[in-house]
Amino acid sequence: VVTFYPGPSKVYPQVAQYMQNAFDEGVLSLNHRSAGFMQLLQKTLQLLHQKLDIPSEYSIYLVSSATEAWEVVAQSLTAQHSMHFYNGSFGKKWFHYTANIVPNASATWFDPQHTLTHHLFERETAIAQHNLTHLAAAEVVCLTHNETSNGTQLTLTDVQKIRQNTDAIVALDVTSSLGGVALPWAQGDVWLASVQKCLGLPAGLGLMVCSPKALAKARLLNDHLRYNSLLAIDDNFTKFQTHYTPNVLGVYLLMKIMNQVADIQTIDSKTKARAQDWYKFINTQTPWQSLIQNTDTRANTVIAVAGEPVAIEALKKRATQHQITIGNGYGEWKSHSFRIANFPAIEDWEIEKLKRILS
Ligand SMILES: *Cc1c(COP(=O)(O)O)cnc(C)c1O
Repeated sequence: VVTFYPGPSKVYPQVAQYMQNAFDEGVLSLNHRSAGFMQLLQKTLQLLHQKLDIPSEYSIYLVSSATEAWEVVAQSLTAQHSMHFYNGSFGKKWFHYTANIVPNASATWFDPQHTLTHHLFERETAIAQHNLTHLAAAEVVCLTHNETSNGTQLTLTDVQKIRQNTDAIVALDVTSSLGGVALPWAQGDVWLASVQKCLGLPAGLGLMVCSPKALAKARLLNDHLRYNSLLAIDDNFTKFQTHYTPNVLGVYLLMKIMNQVADIQTIDSKTKARAQDWYKFINTQTPWQSLIQNTDTRANTVIAVAGEPVAIEALKKRATQHQITIGNGYGEWKSHSFRIANFPAIEDWEIEKLKRILS
């Protein structure tokens, strides 16, 4: 079956062989305090730095999921207040989990057809001034870089504008963009993701990329209440160990895939060219329209397509007959949209096959 589901998504075909290798090499029984595991983790972190072009002063941690990383941000980096901007389901969920932990979390919805910059700054002066004042006073700002539910992304300008207008810790959910497009690391303090989207791996690992500023904040708050408090994670990772018995198969597969993939600049160009091609194709050669009309906010890695529920049901049936899985709509767009993953593991012949069904 060919799958375009935006997570869990297509895994690289090489994963089959890597799983066998892990078994044969005895990796699966490695103790997580052993030299063998420490070498594996060190190599994995080094390859992530190298292939994803992560600045050397940023540290990388592995956790269980992006959802867990949301809670680490709330527990270890937020004393009083986090400010969430979202336009779809994942950003909203992040806010709800945080609100259970952080006394004064606040959230602002913005229109997925407009940029965050437009929402915050390009309106009446009084509103823009009000937003600037709030941003300047923020402790932690939480942004969903790539909103998988509706196929939107923040622009580089959005991310830069936030950075320029606050001293807050800036946390970005890049679950469906990390590994698919180049990220402006210096513009954020916490970049969180999981492996089952653009990294083309089976689910079961989350990633956190943290700036020195994030670490300094963690030290200031000194949260040690939880097994996954950021300082405990950091203590372990500086020794190339983990704070609990890890998903060692997942770590091994991540190492192998990072070793295999091209550098992020190469992947970025390919992803963006494919995205352009997808949007053009959908809007000009099919009866469908892209859900997001604003070319600035359309995601490169998740293509959301709008249509009538009946037509979408018929399309899904036809796709299933051809052994193709497309992504369901999500949240409030569930019945009148579908989604196409534009992740690096997907091959050109698979795209051609789906195009024939859509046109
Ligand atoms: C998939 C996804 C998540 C959840 O990831 P888990 O690994 O299931 O925790 C969070 N945020 C975004 C934007 C996602 O696409």
